[in-house]
Amino acid sequence: MERAKWNDLEISATDIASDYQKEAEIRKVSGKELICPDPECESPLLKYCHGEKKSAYFAHLHDGNCDYEQFDRQPSILREIRYQLYESFKGKGYDVEIEKKILKHHYTHLILKDGEKKIAVELGDKTVSYSKITEFESQYTGLGISCKWIVVDEINPKIREDSVYFLKRYELNRSTENELFVIDVNTRKIAQYKMDMRSYPPQYIVALNKKYGQIFFMQGEIEDVCLEDKHLSLPGFSLKYSAWLEQKSQFVEEKEKRKLIPVHKSSSGAEKGFAYGNMQQKPASTMISRSNGITRQSTVFEDGLTTDERARQYNAKRLKEIEELIEKFRNFSQYRQNNVLNYAKKIMEWQVFSSLEEMPLEEQFAKILRMLPQEKFNKVKRQMI
Ligand SMILES: [Zn+2]
Repeated sequence: MERAKWNDLEISATDIASDYQKEAEIRKVSGKELICPDPECESPLLKYCHGEKKSAYFAHLHDGNCDYEQFDRQPSILREIRYQLYESFKGKGYDVEIEKKILKHHYTHLILKDGEKKIAVELGDKTVSYSKITEFESQYTGLGISCKWIVVDEINPKIREDSVYFLKRYELNRSTENELFVIDVNTRKIAQYKMDMRSYPPQYIVALNKKYGQIFFMQGEIEDVCLEDKHLSLPGFSLKYSAWLEQKSQFVEEKEKRKLIPVHKSSSGAEKGFAYGNMQQKPASTMISRSNGITRQSTVFEDGLTTDERARQYNAKRLKEIEELIEKFRNFSQYRQNNVLNYAKKIMEWQVFSSLEEMPLEEQFAKILRMLPQEKFNKVKRQMI
């Protein structure tokens, strides 16, 4: 064990071992005055050990239940990383405590305080069970403390939410942040991941995932980890994440713009059951047409319209609706414009809109409107009645 109490003072085995005078002093009281730091320890008398094979440690003189001893049995890498984070946070001037017993029979690795907010930092690996995660979560919530797991494993820049083990999935799905931290056992670098929870038009999801992925990734040194906006972060993470989201939105916007230009399309989409908005319908027959010397095949639906015609109609309808809503928005008071804009942002489910901040309200609104899927678009429309 790393820590012990002597004369009501906490001492650390590593610290004692670093100084000959201190070690000589502690050896005099070893097994007599050294006490286990766990207040519920059944057999609190400790001895100090420091040989040549193992680094210095404290051990119980007699057997007995002890939560601190249990906690200290975790792989030594967790202890090393815990102390590395602790020293780094202290160096940044943060209010941080290490190895605190605030839950039942459990030691919290680190507790960070930022004003009223307290964050319990737990280090874990793939062995952490579902019941442990949820038990801690409920106890921390009861104490008004938020809990953040840092997973000790290997870093993989490209991960998929459905192919990682439960502790990682749990962090990615936590509704407030959707963020995961991983420290690499070999390189000791730290990675921050954030899952994009926005919804996109279904026809672009495959292309978006291929180009950008569903999870944003950034890597840094353990010493880089800091508090940003009262939560753990690599410096500048949220800005980079927003820029990434913006790229994804622009990708969709570009695709949508291209779709709105009434170009002739091949019929292959329609034959696969390709839908334009909610106008999905089974093709009834195929029509061959010839123009400019190019033979084209076009699907005719039961209502007598071809694929091209249906796409044109759908796009024209959508464009008209967008224009109408922007016109309506223009005539609102600034107060109402702000309300509507905030509502649109809320249902768009972006976390950060910093890229839009410089634009006039109307332009922001138009931009968001063009990207909203039909169902959410209709919600904004209803809000503006
Ligand atoms: Zn003990």
